[in-house]
Amino acid sequence: MNWGAILRYRWLVAALSAIGYLLVAWQAAMQVQQTAVDALAASGHSQLNLYATHLRGELQRFEKLPTLIATHPRLLEVLQDPDDVDAVDGLNRYLEEINRSTGAADTYLMDRNGLTLAASNWHSERPFVGRNFNFRPYFQEAMAGQLGRYFAQGTASQQRGYYFASSVRAGGKVFGVVVVKVNLSNIEQEWEGLPEEVVVTDPDGVIFFATQPTWRFKTIAPLDHQARTRIELSRRYPKAALEPLPLKAWVPEGTQHQLVQLGDNQQQRYLLQSQAMAEAGWQVHLMTPLQSAHQQMVNAILLISALALALLFLGLGLRQRYKRRLEKMLYDEQAREALYRTHAQLEQRVKSRTADLSESNEQLSREIEERRHAEAQLRATQNELIQAAKLATLGQMSAGINHELSQPLAAIRSYADNGQALLEKGRLQEVESNLVQISDLTERMARIGSQLKIFSRKSTGLVGAVSLKGVIEAARAIIGPRSNKTDATLIIALPDERLQVCADEVLVQQVLVNLIHNALQAVEGEAERKVEVHTEQRSDQVALVVEDSGPGIADEHLEHIFDPFFTTKEASEGLGLGLTISNRIVTELGGEMSASSGCLGGARFEVVLPSVESGPESELESERKREER
Ligand code: ADP
Repeated sequence: MNWGAILRYRWLVAALSAIGYLLVAWQAAMQVQQTAVDALAASGHSQLNLYATHLRGELQRFEKLPTLIATHPRLLEVLQDPDDVDAVDGLNRYLEEINRSTGAADTYLMDRNGLTLAASNWHSERPFVGRNFNFRPYFQEAMAGQLGRYFAQGTASQQRGYYFASSVRAGGKVFGVVVVKVNLSNIEQEWEGLPEEVVVTDPDGVIFFATQPTWRFKTIAPLDHQARTRIELSRRYPKAALEPLPLKAWVPEGTQHQLVQLGDNQQQRYLLQSQAMAEAGWQVHLMTPLQSAHQQMVNAILLISALALALLFLGLGLRQRYKRRLEKMLYDEQAREALYRTHAQLEQRVKSRTADLSESNEQLSREIEERRHAEAQLRATQNELIQAAKLATLGQMSAGINHELSQPLAAIRSYADNGQALLEKGRLQEVESNLVQISDLTERMARIGSQLKIFSRKSTGLVGAVSLKGVIEAARAIIGPRSNKTDATLIIALPDERLQVCADEVLVQQVLVNLIHNALQAVEGEAERKVEVHTEQRSDQVALVVEDSGPGIADEHLEHIFDPFFTTKEASEGLGLGLTISNRIVTELGGEMSASSGCLGGARFEVVLPSVESGPESELESERKREER
């Protein structure tokens, strides 16, 4: 079902619904009313039967009474001798007695001329006795030998009554007529107050019996002139205007029910049902108020309206719910779209970022590869340079070494030559002295050789606890000849054996040798030639300090001295690699190297290395020693 379309045409839908509701309500109301009227008609029919039967029974009770009374001899006596006062009096009392015991309204005897001779109401204010009723049809009928029966308003009593009359006969001759008048007002009173109205009309349509007192002596339909004249002549209803009841009658379509309305009052609508009482020439009518049917119809309309309202509220509720659902769906859709958009944007961003990252990654990988390559190259170059530096240093030292070695060699030769000559001369003691000198000299040469061996030794590559005392001593041994040549004062403050750094012993030696060597070069030619080496313990680090009394380092050179190939020396004296390599070595060992002005007036170089707690040998140390062995 397309609710959206329905919502768009809601006014049309509302109008159609209203029309539908009205049609359904109208149909249902009509149906309910018809059903209710049918039910009223069914029950009315039985009611009408009951009323008619009751009336008929009431009349039948008195129907034979005049014939019975007529057989009494007293009646004939009076008829034959109306002047017999006693007989008349006796008959009066007799008729009064009969009247009382049967419940009749009046009982009276008329002679052949219609003159009343005796009557049950003989002692009332307006007795019938002496009055003539020969104009009444019942008298004429009785005189004709039939059972006289007639309904009329009493001319004397003004009371409505039904008259039964029978002739009083003797020997086939009619002497008079005895009449019993039946009063119907008792029945009327009994029936008054019932929901339905009972109306009895005579053949002219005059209402002479009605449970509604104001309807009495009215007519069902207007009387024509002829009927009116006839009624007036018969004096049936003396003094009665005989106006028609303002009844509007109709038969609803599709039914056989006769409905009537009294006047303009819609509240006074009745279902009219009639039945003939042929023996009395009457029509008995039952008028059942339609109010109950009307009420049922109203109830039905109310019920349908309540249902329609319930449906309306249900519809409104459903519509509201649908609207909310629609809004929620719309909101969800928008949220989904927004989410999708954000997701797509994010994905796009992630893609581009990933691409960037991949690119940077590749770039980084390339750079790392290049660095690795460069590092490997640098390492190779470094090693080569270290070796080259060593060779250069060797080269530089070779003069000194040569000098150091040539002197003892020359001395050894002269001692040997001299010893040979002395041996020939048998001066054995002097020969022995020469040999001792030769031995001392060779020992000294061997020491120089061993120092050179130490210097040319390659790094073990093992990092471990290194005693600075040993390092400084070894450096001093290596650099000794040089310092002697310079005639400089090498002041070395040897630390405690236990002062150790975490390093590679050979490399630290090389660094220290290089620093002392530079310092000796710097003080060369200076008036004061002092080179000082000492150590400083600083919490978890140890500084190895080399100071000299040389010219120091110019400020503009200070920032370049660790650069490769930076040198202020002659080409034959320096390559400008010593500090570069030394710095590199120290950095690799996890330390730092710096240059500044020292307190001796020259340069001050500091090599800071991580210290090792003195104590039991570390595993590295022991391993190193094992390897050395
Ligand atoms: P080289 O000694 O071959 O020149 P180095 O790298 O050892 O190479 O030294 C670089 C430069 O640092 C030297 O040329 C010198 O100018 C300066 N230098 C090094 N040590 C000292 C020092 N103790 N006093 C003054 N200048 C120094």
